[in-house]
Amino acid sequence: MTNPLFSLPGTLGRIVGAAHVLTDGDLSGYERDWRGRERGRALAVVCPANVGEVAAVVRACAALGAAIVPQGGNTGLSVGSTPDGSGTQVVLSLRRMNAVRGIDAANFAVTVEAGCVLQALQTATREAGFLFPLSLAAEGSCTIGGNLAANAGGTQVLRYGNARELCLGLEVVTPQGEVWDGLSGLRKDNTGYDLRDLFIGSEGTLGVITAATLKLYPLPAAQLTAWAAAPSLQAAVDLLGLAQRQLGAGLTGFEVMGQFALSLVEKHYPHLRPPLYCGTPWCVLLENSDHESEAHARAQFEHLLQAALESGCATDAVVAESITQAKTLWQIRESIPLAQAAEGLNIKHDISLPVSRIPAFVTEADTLLAHRIPGVRLVNFGHLGDGNLHYNVQAPLGADAAQFLREQEERVNTLVFDAVARHQGSISAEHGIGSLKAAKLPRYKPAVALDLMRAIKRAIDPRGIMNPGRVLR
Ligand code: FAD
Ligand code: ZN
Repeated sequence: MTNPLFSLPGTLGRIVGAAHVLTDGDLSGYERDWRGRERGRALAVVCPANVGEVAAVVRACAALGAAIVPQGGNTGLSVGSTPDGSGTQVVLSLRRMNAVRGIDAANFAVTVEAGCVLQALQTATREAGFLFPLSLAAEGSCTIGGNLAANAGGTQVLRYGNARELCLGLEVVTPQGEVWDGLSGLRKDNTGYDLRDLFIGSEGTLGVITAATLKLYPLPAAQLTAWAAAPSLQAAVDLLGLAQRQLGAGLTGFEVMGQFALSLVEKHYPHLRPPLYCGTPWCVLLENSDHESEAHARAQFEHLLQAALESGCATDAVVAESITQAKTLWQIRESIPLAQAAEGLNIKHDISLPVSRIPAFVTEADTLLAHRIPGVRLVNFGHLGDGNLHYNVQAPLGADAAQFLREQEERVNTLVFDAVARHQGSISAEHGIGSLKAAKLPRYKPAVALDLMRAIKRAIDPRGIMNPGRVLR
């Protein structure tokens, strides 16, 4: 008897058009995760054009019990948006659903389809005179649906919050193929359980996000960037406190970068030279957004940096003189993950800690790792303003990186995550759990919380067809 799943691509073709169901040719862009850690095999990649088609696709998959893997830009870093190796899972790509449905100017809100690329939304809203503040290095490829499903963070969380805090409403296709229209755009709605927040951060395990209504902000009159050298991580934390007190809501970015991370950028992208870091263990990138004028923003920044130099939390500092200079500073920061990838395979940790605990955590984890794995190289950077560190571990110089990962990854993860837990942190600040960390979650999440999560999953997706094996095993 032939497997009924084999008829599914034909059925899906009748819903979305045969040209929008991919079953052969080069599907690696859909089947391999962004970091190239895993390559799965899809039964089919289906690309619906509207919410009705998404619902029909989900119903067709549900009828046969076929697993669905929602996919946006496939830039996720937790192996959550690609199929497993069974050849039985359907990748549901939202790429064709990329329209900005409309801007409600008086409500400071925009409604957009899930497959809209983040950068396209930033541009569309800017052209309409608004700021959509979500910003991350993958913004040229990642999509709004993926941003919400992963509850993305990025560089402006300090001021505007993560994707969750920017979302007013969602349109979702449930695992039964029903459409929930929750695109109200309301800022207040206390009518029971918060379904919106349930789907945000669910990593495709509860339903397919097809559209969202998101918050907009006024465009600032000026946005200035500064770079400061900090003698220690504690000094960088002190500088953060000073900047928050002096700039208030104007402080829209505060990124920290360790010296080794910056040396990798210089090695792999020699045209991107940090302005000052020789001999400085840490550098900080600050952004000040001001609603008065550039002159006002500059004066505020200079006042802050003077106070930082006087108090010793910075040893040197510079404010970018032009937009080009500011862009270069941000490019240096955003090139760290790419430089790290160019240096070779590495073990990534996207951790969250109370800001006050970060220096102690880094000292402790650095010491433990250096002791257990002589020569290990630590690539440290992140969104210090939100207590989010990318604490990454690179093989010792000259070591075979693939072998290093095979032999050390499990041990390194346990060591780092146990240290995170001792400091009341989280093993995922913004990249999510996916399948990469699903096995680790039970060690670090309270059993009661996991039981509640499993109960929610069973209630919403009783057949377990939505992105199985992700988040919860
Ligand atoms: P995908 O990778 O396609 O999917 C991510 C998850 O969401 C998967 O579980 C998938 O099944 C699910 N999903 C996707 N679309 C939908 C949908 N419509 N409905 C339901 N589920 C869906 N992340 C940060 O938070 N902050 C950063 O600063 C950051 N920097 C990055 C820098 C680089 C260079 C790269 C490559 C990635 C970075 N990321 C960062 C990770 C990634 O870009 C984000 O997680 C992003 O939000 C993923 O969006 P995507 O459209 O690519 O989603
Ligand atoms: Zn990040």
